[in-house]
Amino acid sequence: MERKIIIYDTLSRKKREFVPIVPGMVGLYVCGPTVYGDPHLGHARPAVTFDVLVRLFRFLGYKVRYVRNITDVGHLEHDADAGEDKIEKKARLEQLEPMEVAQYYENRFHEAMRMLNTLPPSIEPHASGHIIEQIALARKILDNGFAYVSNGSVYFDVRKYNEKYHYGILSGRNLDDMINNSRTLAGQEDKHSPVDFALWKKASAEHIMRWPSPWSDGFPGWHAECSAMSEKYLGKEFDIHGGGMDLVFPHHECELAQNTASRNTGGVHYWMHNNMITINGQKMGKSLGNFITLDELFHGTNKVLSQAYSPMTIRFFILEAHYRSTLDFGNDALQAAEKGMKKISVAAGDAESLSAEGGPGADETEKSLEAVKTGVMDALCDDLNTPVALAGMFDAVKIINNVKEGRAFLNSKSAEILSFLFHDVLSDILGIVPEGNAGGSENGSKRLEGLVSMVLRERKEAKDKKDWAKSDSIRDDLNSLGINIKDTKDGTEWNLK
Ligand code: ZN
Repeated sequence: MERKIIIYDTLSRKKREFVPIVPGMVGLYVCGPTVYGDPHLGHARPAVTFDVLVRLFRFLGYKVRYVRNITDVGHLEHDADAGEDKIEKKARLEQLEPMEVAQYYENRFHEAMRMLNTLPPSIEPHASGHIIEQIALARKILDNGFAYVSNGSVYFDVRKYNEKYHYGILSGRNLDDMINNSRTLAGQEDKHSPVDFALWKKASAEHIMRWPSPWSDGFPGWHAECSAMSEKYLGKEFDIHGGGMDLVFPHHECELAQNTASRNTGGVHYWMHNNMITINGQKMGKSLGNFITLDELFHGTNKVLSQAYSPMTIRFFILEAHYRSTLDFGNDALQAAEKGMKKISVAAGDAESLSAEGGPGADETEKSLEAVKTGVMDALCDDLNTPVALAGMFDAVKIINNVKEGRAFLNSKSAEILSFLFHDVLSDILGIVPEGNAGGSENGSKRLEGLVSMVLRERKEAKDKKDWAKSDSIRDDLNSLGINIKDTKDGTEWNLK
């Protein structure tokens, strides 16, 4: 732990050296998914970003308690105070129990996260399992005078809070501007001010998901769960709170206000936010028709894509950009990432098998590799600079290729550094698992190739007969064996996950 880790903190708007509250320990809270839809690209980026952060801390010897919640109470994405609960809507349409819908999408989310090779959190609390804590939070804020009860609902009194503290400090907003720019929406007449937000909401008659409270049968406001659950599992103050930049306002701003109003401290020492993704330069959105789920990405079944991309290619692609830059998804960029992923996979296989008996210039090669190693680790510890770290990895790939072609030679120290780079850094910290047939025995991979082509011929016959059920089930069976297939205009390609 002698290594300094630098983190960009959204609240102080600068890079700061990470100093843990308890030496050697990291408390990390990341806002997890709202489980009312299939996991999509927007889920992949924070998941991969904070996964690398956790892996890096653990690699450096920290004990990390990684808490990521599941929002299963069901809230509208950007307006928790009005409108229909999305889980309930889906449940009604499909005649399902609301928790059946939430569980289904939670399972889908976990499966996608597993495919992206993200480590599971240490604790994954559900909003629906922490209603008591959320009621206690609302009660505390009421007792402290920063909330009011109105018609069975409890609202956070933003103006009152702003007299003592600063509402807008995280997102850089000013309360007067917010009040001037907001409209009073229908169904929000209970609020004293349009900027107030719900801590507890009285349920309307048709609302299925409801719990008793001192104020009404209802449900907690969206922001309440993260304040309540982060305090429960990480304490009144904890190290890092993460999430996507779209959560800075209102979600994290409200969380910060709730923390301060209930426990007189913002509670979070570093706020980390990953930037957004775009699709061919455009914001991703259902209404824009460019919404891509992870399943569509892994199977190439979205019209924006010309082919399927493996989960590792997606992970690699996400890490090619710094987490605080926007990341633009498009076919060309993904194809380039696929090529990069192949190169690094082949090099990872070579790194293990190259001879390390030395030769002309071996000391120079060792020096170059040492510099790559230092550069890669420095980059990762400098606010998770994964693109610079990956560029360093490709410098190592070049050296490996020179060795393969007899233009450079490795000594035993160089072999150790290569093993550090392609095992410890690539797999353990970046979580990138080399793909393809690299490493398999020649005979074994030939047999596998024969077997897969046989199965693919079977699938083609089924497709020709328009037996989609059979062709899909063959695809899924191969997939569950770790064999990804993708249909291109030249036929079906496959690779190992
Ligand atoms: Zn949250």
